[in-house]
Amino acid sequence: MRCEHHQGTPTPSSKSGPGFTLVELLVVVAIIAVLASLLLPSLARAKGKAHQVQCLNHQKQLVLATHLYGSDNGDWLPPIQMELRGARPSWRTFLFPLVGRSAGVFDCPAERKDVYATGNRVPPARPNPKAIGLQVAGENELCSGIGAVNVHWLPGGAQPPFGRPAPDEDNLCRWNRLEKPVQVILFGDGNSDFDGIWPNDRWWIWKEMGAANTMGFNRATEGDPGAFRHNRRSNYAFADGHAAIHDPSMIPCNRESCWWSAKASPH
Ligand SMILES: [Zn+2]
Ligand SMILES: [Zn+2]
Repeated sequence: MRCEHHQGTPTPSSKSGPGFTLVELLVVVAIIAVLASLLLPSLARAKGKAHQVQCLNHQKQLVLATHLYGSDNGDWLPPIQMELRGARPSWRTFLFPLVGRSAGVFDCPAERKDVYATGNRVPPARPNPKAIGLQVAGENELCSGIGAVNVHWLPGGAQPPFGRPAPDEDNLCRWNRLEKPVQVILFGDGNSDFDGIWPNDRWWIWKEMGAANTMGFNRATEGDPGAFRHNRRSNYAFADGHAAIHDPSMIPCNRESCWWSAKASPH
C-alpha cells in the first residue's frame, strides 16, 4: 500500500493552488487604477512646481550675472544684441562666462521646444550647439525659454533695461539709470515671435499686455499667445535680484508705473 502523502501531484486546476482568480485580479487592477488616479495629478503638480522654482532660480542667477557684468564694465547692463567681429551675439553671450558657462541657465525647464542648451533654432534652421555662448554668427538665432526685456526702446523715448549701442538705437542702459530696481523686469519666461518676421528672436521678451508705446512690442496687439509656462502665469526676475511669478496681464505698463522700462513712468 502507498503512502497517502505521495499520492500523485496537484494539477494546475487544483482548487487549493496559489494565484488569483480572474475576479481577484480585476479587483487588484481596479484598486491600482484608483490609487494612480489619486497620485498622478499631485505628482504632475509637484513636477510643475519644481519646474517653476527652477526657472525662478535660473532667472535670479541671470540677474546676479548682470550685476557682475556691470561691475566689470563701467556700470553698464549688457546689450540685448551687438555687432561684434561680423557677428551679432545676444545678451546671453555677454553673461555666459558669468554663469559658469552653464547654458542651461538660459532655459526654462518647462519649455521643451525653445532650448538654448541644445543649440535649438526655429525650423528650418538646424540646431547649432557650437554657437552657444560664443561671439559667432548664429548665436542670436538660438532659441531659449528665458528672454531679456527690450521694450520702450524708441529713440528719445523711455529707456529699456537692455538696449543696443550705435548704429542701432544707441540706448544702452547703466545701472544707475534704473529708477526703481524693485519694479524693473530684466528677465522673464519669453517666447517672442514678432509677426513671424523674426522667427528666431526667442531670446528677448516684449511687453506681455497693456498699453503700448509701440504696437509691435505688445503681445496682445500682435496676437501672440505668450509664454505662459507655469499654470497660466510666467516667471520674472527684477533688477533688485528678486524673482516672482506673475499674471502677465497684471504687469503695469501705464502712466502710473511701468515695469518694462528703466524709467518708473515712461508713458
Ligand atoms: Zn519658466
Ligand atoms: Zn510701459
